[in-house]
Amino acid sequence: MEQTPPEVGERPLPFATYPTDDTELQKTIWKGSNCRRGYGREYIRKTHQNCCAYCNKPLIEYYDAWVTMALDHVVPVSVCKDWSIPPEFCRSLANAVLTCAACNGFDNRYKPSFDKRQITTFQEFLTLRGEIFIERRERILKKHEEEKEFFKEKVAQADV
Ligand SMILES: [Zn+2]
Repeated sequence: MEQTPPEVGERPLPFATYPTDDTELQKTIWKGSNCRRGYGREYIRKTHQNCCAYCNKPLIEYYDAWVTMALDHVVPVSVCKDWSIPPEFCRSLANAVLTCAACNGFDNRYKPSFDKRQITTFQEFLTLRGEIFIERRERILKKHEEEKEFFKEKVAQADV
């Protein structure tokens, strides 16, 4: 029997399998310059996540997917700067999710739809991260739908 995938809003957040220890969560994950061979692997070992956090594409089963793997700042660096969020929160494991190249590129001008507020504690940051993740995932999946439409109408009809 075919299984219906859960509705987007109901899909579990990737953070459920992250370390529960705040000290571990606050450690910087972006180290060195190589995602696939370096910090991306460390992220996978620490969080047990190996699919794109937004579109759910498996990223370590096949080379063609693996080679597109990136680590995304859930709360983007630009938002962290704009909201004066401590840079160590921005660089933390807690703020990282695994993405495919498409999802990583679809939303790089994101600004939160809600009002700026002060983020001083790590707990406040984690709450914000959850809110932003849900908002961004919706935007990114909508973008995928638009791209799929274009593909079906044009590219698949040999009208490249
Ligand atoms: Zn993706």
